[in-house]
Amino acid sequence: MRLPPFAYERPRDLYEALELLNTFGKDCRVLAGGTDLLVRMKQGLATPSRLISLKDLPELATINESDGFLNIGTAVKLADILAYEPIQYRWPGLLEAVKSVGAPSIQHFSGTIGGNLCQDNRCQFYNQSKFFRQARQTCNKAGGNTCFAWKGGSDKCHSICQSDSAPILIAMDARITIKSKNESRTIPLEELYSSVGERPLTLADDEMLTEIHVPGPVPGAGCAFEKLTYRSSIDYAVVSAGAYVQTDGSKTVNARLIIGAVARGPLAIAAVEKTLKDRTAGDEEAIDQAGREAMNAAEAFIANNITQPVEYRTQMVSVITKRALSRATKRALSHTDVSEAK
Ligand SMILES: Cc1cc2nc3c(=O)[nH]c(=O)nc-3n(C[C@H](O)[C@H](O)[C@H](O)COP(=O)(O)OP(=O)(O)OC[C@H]3O[C@@H](n4cnc5c(N)ncnc54)[C@H](O)[C@@H]3O)c2cc1C
Repeated sequence: MRLPPFAYERPRDLYEALELLNTFGKDCRVLAGGTDLLVRMKQGLATPSRLISLKDLPELATINESDGFLNIGTAVKLADILAYEPIQYRWPGLLEAVKSVGAPSIQHFSGTIGGNLCQDNRCQFYNQSKFFRQARQTCNKAGGNTCFAWKGGSDKCHSICQSDSAPILIAMDARITIKSKNESRTIPLEELYSSVGERPLTLADDEMLTEIHVPGPVPGAGCAFEKLTYRSSIDYAVVSAGAYVQTDGSKTVNARLIIGAVARGPLAIAAVEKTLKDRTAGDEEAIDQAGREAMNAAEAFIANNITQPVEYRTQMVSVITKRALSRATKRALSHTDVSEAK
């Protein structure tokens, strides 16, 4: 498979990049590491006539901590996040998620955190060669009007968001900064996702993600990421979960659970907070109940969009939820004084 022809822009600063986005809008795409975009271009699934490279933009390539937040430029490579030492003891859930993306070659070669959050939704009927796709009617995501992943068909696209970093970052209440030539806004990360399979991001054509802001750990809180894959590496998630649990040292006072790889966007399971709140932290019965609630909520979304059976993935939501919540709670209980951390 060959790349189609395209113009290549290499802006030297963020202003120039935003100016290009403003001029060329929907005919161009931002190119970070290219591990998602270039594959889709080779398959004929994305056909931008112009790519705007983020490689030379120092503004997007830094990690720093200020005002209680970890700020990560969106062009920071996944490998550089793993190498940032404080992540290991202050944001272990993020570390787990980034480590699980694809394989070390993707994390080290060029995959970025911004590209990970902005990657397109996937489906086994869509992410295929032209030859495969030509054998069927065009699906919703490719511009047609049917969905092969939904039993009996659907007028909506049921592709899934496979970003591994999104569930844990949303669970940790991360915010993102989005810029265009004339505007800058900072919003909760969950608002980046539209839950529309055909166009899964809420970004306008002239906008780009520039920074991710992750709140620092607070005493008595912990987070964890769990991912089920078919093979141990290089695979996208069958189901994933990002969990955040806050305790007062004995009881749970706050909890967030986000399920990944089952719906058109990261799926927040609101019932879990209510179930765990004011219960003894780590109470197995409460965590079991949270697992069942996550499974029941996810069931309505799970389609035949990856090769593993719908029933199996539905059951696994409960298992992955329980693991993520248990580990986040353990961390929360052992993390009563974050100032003790290096
Ligand atoms: C074999 C294989 C396995 C993979 N496994 C996983 C996996 O397990 N988990 C997972 O999450 N991903 C996986 N991926 C997908 C991908 O490699 C990663 O998500 C990676 O982090 C994408 O980053 P990138 O910089 O290469 O993105 P790119 O390909 O450069 O960009 C991806 C998309 O995001 C847009 N984009 C990039 N940066 C910005 C920005 N700052 N603002 C606005 N839009 C932007 C691009 O225009 C493009 O549409 C896999 C890919 C391959 C090929």
